[in-house]
Amino acid sequence: MRLSRSFLPTLKETPSDAQIPSHRLMLRAGLIRQTASGIYAWLPAGLRVLRNISQIVREEQDRIGAQEVLMPTLQSAELWKRSGRYDAYGPEMLRIQDRHERDLLYGPTNEEMITDLLGQSVKSYRELPQMLYHIQWKFRDEVRPRFGVMRGREFLMKDAYSFDASYDAAVDTYRRMMLAYLRTFQRLGVRAVPMVADTGPIGGDLSHEFLILAPTGESGVFYDGALESKDWLSDPIDVDDSASLAGFFNTLTSYYAATDEKHDETAWAAVPEEKRREGRGIEVGHIFYFGTKYTKSMDISVTGPDGALLYPEMGSYGIGVSRLVGAIIEASHDDGGIVWPESVAPFRAAILNLKVGDAECDALCERLYDAGDEQFLYDDRTDRAGAKFADADLMGHPWQMIVGPRGAKTGTVELKRRATGERFELPAEEALAKVL
Ligand code: ATP
Ligand code: MG
Ligand code: MG
Ligand code: MG
Repeated sequence: MRLSRSFLPTLKETPSDAQIPSHRLMLRAGLIRQTASGIYAWLPAGLRVLRNISQIVREEQDRIGAQEVLMPTLQSAELWKRSGRYDAYGPEMLRIQDRHERDLLYGPTNEEMITDLLGQSVKSYRELPQMLYHIQWKFRDEVRPRFGVMRGREFLMKDAYSFDASYDAAVDTYRRMMLAYLRTFQRLGVRAVPMVADTGPIGGDLSHEFLILAPTGESGVFYDGALESKDWLSDPIDVDDSASLAGFFNTLTSYYAATDEKHDETAWAAVPEEKRREGRGIEVGHIFYFGTKYTKSMDISVTGPDGALLYPEMGSYGIGVSRLVGAIIEASHDDGGIVWPESVAPFRAAILNLKVGDAECDALCERLYDAGDEQFLYDDRTDRAGAKFADADLMGHPWQMIVGPRGAKTGTVELKRRATGERFELPAEEALAKVL
């Protein structure tokens, strides 16, 4: 993308209504604009981040056998009356009437719809397990939308739903999903720690929230520092083997990790002092086993191995895709702006042409730009160098390829790594090899 022709409206001033760094930086870096309270438009750079996150989420869901679908945002009230949640859900649900005065709602979540969809087509335990997910906009009429996309009213969520024929199979599914989440967050370049969450009337230990550590988080968190050093991408867990999954789950949950809601001082005291980590966290994901709650209330059953009817055991698994954009920035920024992890950055690198109009500078920049195959943002504006440096830092590209008249004469690029500030003087080809 060429900056001179693109819609990447950066702001020099700090927007006065934004209270936390990620909200300020998302506005200043031109990622989003608010269109109504808690509702945002995603501009080109922001959309690229949203897509990068979605793609990683998708790959890790697919990897454990979840299948992608796309359910609509609008749902009929009838569906929710069947589960009994239409009245119970309360004012967070946006209720709508069509021209025939039929009640609709903008989906805050999809348990009812997916249960109904499954019930229409699956009649036997042999067709289970099923795991389906979609990445779709949700609406929750939050009392206090705030912190930009972090607590929006319209927001993008990945929500997955699983159906198993037995409790044991559902537990395996839950553990598999837990691993998929750990891998997803690690690939996104952030540490998200799973913490026990409330299971409500269902009980058990099968509900976890995933929290990213950040001083602006809404929850207090307490966890064992041992959880910080795990590498989930190279862990040889066999997701098709119950014993392997159990080993993974039991080891993971043997370490203390809880939000303030579930914090237990006695268990906390048993964590070695030097391992205790205490701070604030942002909820970016939530996984939940809830058994037959919806299949029973909506009367969706299948024939079991003995010919008798059984109610499939369900779980649901959410990731706040749009919230993650803010949460990643909360966890990764400095005074100059955003510091994108490479995997989600809108552009791998910015090419900063310090003397637009100089034949050698222009030629070298064009050569770099072509090699980048749309992964580079070319700052070809005639602005002064200082403004280009500031914008590149603000937008947070992992790399900056700086081209000035002196270097251009010899085909040399000054490469800057955003995260560390390191600089390298390199021939163009070597610079490209490092960046790509
Ligand atoms: P919160 O406690 O922050 O209100 P929640 O527990 O109500 O979130 P879930 O129902 O667990 O949310 O939804 C799954 C995920 O969707 C959450 O973990 C979060 O990442 C995201 N999410 C929920 N509400 C919002 C929102 N208003 N704006 C952006 N993302 C949200
Ligand atoms: Mg909520
Ligand atoms: Mg919550
Ligand atoms: Mg939650």
